[in-house]
Amino acid sequence: MNPVLAVDGLVVHFPARHGPPVRAVDGVSFTVAERETLGLVGESGCGKSTVSNAIVGLVQPTGGEVRVAGMPVRGADRRTLREIRAKAQIVFQDPATSLNPRMTVGAAIGEPLLVRGLARGRELRERVAALLTEVGLRPEHASRYPHQFSGGQRQRIVIARALALRPALLLCDEPVSALDVSVRAQILNLLVELQQSHAMACLFVSHDLAVVRHVCDRVAVMYLGHLMELAPRDALYTTPRHPYTRALLAAVPEPDPALQRAKPRVPLKGEIPSPAAPPQGCVFHTRCPMAIAHCREEVPAWRHLGETLVACHRAEETPAP
Ligand code: SF4
Repeated sequence: MNPVLAVDGLVVHFPARHGPPVRAVDGVSFTVAERETLGLVGESGCGKSTVSNAIVGLVQPTGGEVRVAGMPVRGADRRTLREIRAKAQIVFQDPATSLNPRMTVGAAIGEPLLVRGLARGRELRERVAALLTEVGLRPEHASRYPHQFSGGQRQRIVIARALALRPALLLCDEPVSALDVSVRAQILNLLVELQQSHAMACLFVSHDLAVVRHVCDRVAVMYLGHLMELAPRDALYTTPRHPYTRALLAAVPEPDPALQRAKPRVPLKGEIPSPAAPPQGCVFHTRCPMAIAHCREEVPAWRHLGETLVACHRAEETPAP
C-alpha cells in the first residue's frame, strides 16, 4: 500500500546574509501510512516544523523529495499544490493567529468549501454545522467571532476548518502547546477520535514526549536537522536505542515522586550547536555522554536494530532507561 506521506532525503537549507547557510533539515526520510499517526519530536530549533512546512510547500526544499498521496510537492504547479494542500491540512500551535478575527467562525470553517466551489448556501451552512458538532461545539456558534471563545474552543474551530476538505493527512504542529494544561487532554483526545473516525494519517510534531506517547503509533526523534531514531511507540519508550532519545525520556517528569527519584539522570553537555555550523561526524557528538573518537569522524549510518531505525555507532550499548 502506498504511504499517504513519503519524505525521502529531505534537505532544507536557508541562505544566511553572512556566513554559511542554516541547515534546518539535512537528509530526513520517513513515511506515514494510512490511518497511522507518526510523532516527530525534538527540542525547539531541531527542524521539525520546517519538515511540516516543506510537506505543504510553505518552504522550498533544497533537496530530496516529499510526496503527499503520491503527488510530488517539489516542482508542483499551482493546481497540484492546491490539491496537495487540500489533502494535507495543518493545525498550528496558536489558534489565535490561525483565525481571522474579523471573520465569523462559520465563515472561517466554510471558506475552504466555498473557495473550491464544493458547497454554498444552505448546504454550506449544514456542512459547517456538522463540522462544529463534530469538534464538540454547537451549530449556533457559527455566527460568533473567534474572540468570543476560549483558547481550547478556538483550537476546536481550527480543527473543524482543517477537516472541511476531508484531508488524507493532518499535520499537527504543537497543537496543544499554547493551551492551558487543563484543556490539553481534551484536545488531544478529540484529535485521536477524529483521526480514527476520518481514517486520516497524521504527522504530530511536538517537543513533548509525554504528549506524543498519548497519540502516536510510531515516533521519530530529530536533532539538529537529522533523524536520530524512528521506532514503534512502545519500543521507543521502553527500549530507546539512541543516547539522545534516552536523554529526552529522562527529562520527562514523572507524576509519581518515587518513580521520579528512581529515574536515571542523563545529563547532556552544553547547548545545541548552530545549524549553520553543525559538528562533523555524528551531529550529536558534542553533547553525547557516550561519544568516542570514532563519533567525531564518521557519520553513523541509518540502520535497523530490531524494529527500530537508529543512527548511532553505539546503539547496541545504550542502557535501558
Ligand atoms: Fe553518541 Fe557516538 Fe552514538 Fe553519536 S554515534 S549518538 S556521538 S555514541
